Amino acid sequence: MTPFGLLYLAAAALFILALKWMSSPATARRGVFAGEFGMFLAIVGTLMRHEVVNYEWIIAGLLLGAVIGVPLALFMPMTHVPQRTAISQACGALASALIGTAEFLRLHPSGFMMAALGVEMLLGYLTFTASMMAFGKLQELLPSRPVTYRGQNLVNLAIFLVAAAIVGALVLDPTKTALFPIFIALAMMFGIQLILPIGGADMPTVIALLNSYAGLSACAMGFALDNKLLIIAGALDGSSGFILSIIMCRAMNRSFTNVLFGAFGQVHAGSAATEAKPVRSASPEEAAAILEDARSVVIIPGYGMAVAQAQHKIRELHDALVKRGVDVRFAIHPVAGRMPGHMNVLLAEADVPYDKLVEMEDINPEMGMTDVALIVGANDIVNPAAKNDPASPIAGMPIIEAAKARTVMIIKRGMSAGFAGIDNELYYMPNTLMLFGDAKAFTAGLVKELAGGH
Ligand code: NDP
Repeated sequence: MTPFGLLYLAAAALFILALKWMSSPATARRGVFAGEFGMFLAIVGTLMRHEVVNYEWIIAGLLLGAVIGVPLALFMPMTHVPQRTAISQACGALASALIGTAEFLRLHPSGFMMAALGVEMLLGYLTFTASMMAFGKLQELLPSRPVTYRGQNLVNLAIFLVAAAIVGALVLDPTKTALFPIFIALAMMFGIQLILPIGGADMPTVIALLNSYAGLSACAMGFALDNKLLIIAGALDGSSGFILSIIMCRAMNRSFTNVLFGAFGQVHAGSAATEAKPVRSASPEEAAAILEDARSVVIIPGYGMAVAQAQHKIRELHDALVKRGVDVRFAIHPVAGRMPGHMNVLLAEADVPYDKLVEMEDINPEMGMTDVALIVGANDIVNPAAKNDPASPIAGMPIIEAAKARTVMIIKRGMSAGFAGIDNELYYMPNTLMLFGDAKAFTAGLVKELAGGH
């Protein structure tokens, strides 16, 4: 085996290990390093394989990438990870599409290579514009509501078929270069059309799917450039993105077609302002007293914990309660927050022990035996309407059954709805206490009370 072949083999093994390790919070960090080292080996192998004409351009590219990437990683808040992923994906897909374009213009290939390049450019250009649209919607630069019109799916299908037909024509006769700009325009237009009917709230799922397209584009590029590592890495990326989007759809009880064509995720402005039903609320002092008397507490974090960056205070609360002999665990819903693993990442950042994090299926049978369910900035993931109301937008979504606990306490700022824009009957139950306030500030109050009591 050639030296670069060995490096490619090691890189491929590291990519596979990276995915394996990233599937658990305990080994995730190792997974990230394995992926990074694998990529480093892949770059060294590629430089060894090809006669590099000009290192200056490569160094300039590395520096420019670092100047943009490092501040982006350092200063971006955790709650903005979905849009950051979208913009990285847009850059990756554009790079892949431009390499395909350069190869096409350089070689005018026909047959299999043109087919591979065609698939690569189609996926690359459409993922580029779709990811930019997803970024715009998430960053609220574009209206995040779904944009729909009559016959939309037919229009999209027509655009896609014409673009695919042009690839077919170029496979047969690569000299028809006049068709090429039309192909690029159609592929880009298809990406925009694809995202128009999808609400901002469904974007994270769509981003996982676009990630899969970008991977498949890289895989097709691997065939076109005869680069086996690109084929492997692209296939891994393509399949893991696809699996992730399926997991997210399942956790929200949505079908793929419903996410892509269902125009869900609209802001239900009316329903957010709920009618004035009576709720019971409590002060930090009262809530701390209840927590102190409890034998078992299950903390259920959600998007509000991320917004308030309350994870460190939650960790302090956990420590204070454990010190008093209370059994404290964290219930993790697969789509709590706004990205997969959102809660795991935040709690890991605050050094909450991994064995305290319990998955939804495992904690639910124990909720009936729990003294206090403390919900921190979560709403939809504990909404009983998912089980009780077949007409609810979240009907069928599996939830953490907080309502079964002896006392339910909910930290949130007011009565606003969550992501799905609907009211939550949990707030009005006789065993529920609302703890009104910012998640970080209120938890700090609880910690202070617990400290003051002894
Ligand atoms: P929700 O969006 O349902 O609710 C969050 C709640 O947090 C709000 O009701 C809000 O109420 C409260 N909140 C906001 N800011 C603060 C703050 N500073 N302090 C205290 N509370 C705050 O979040 P969940 O985590 O329960 O559910 C996630 C939703 O996101 C699900 O519907 C899921 O399907 C969806 N989703 C998740 C994805 C994922 O991958 N995780 C991807 C796509 C969608 P108030 O304003 O009154 O404080």
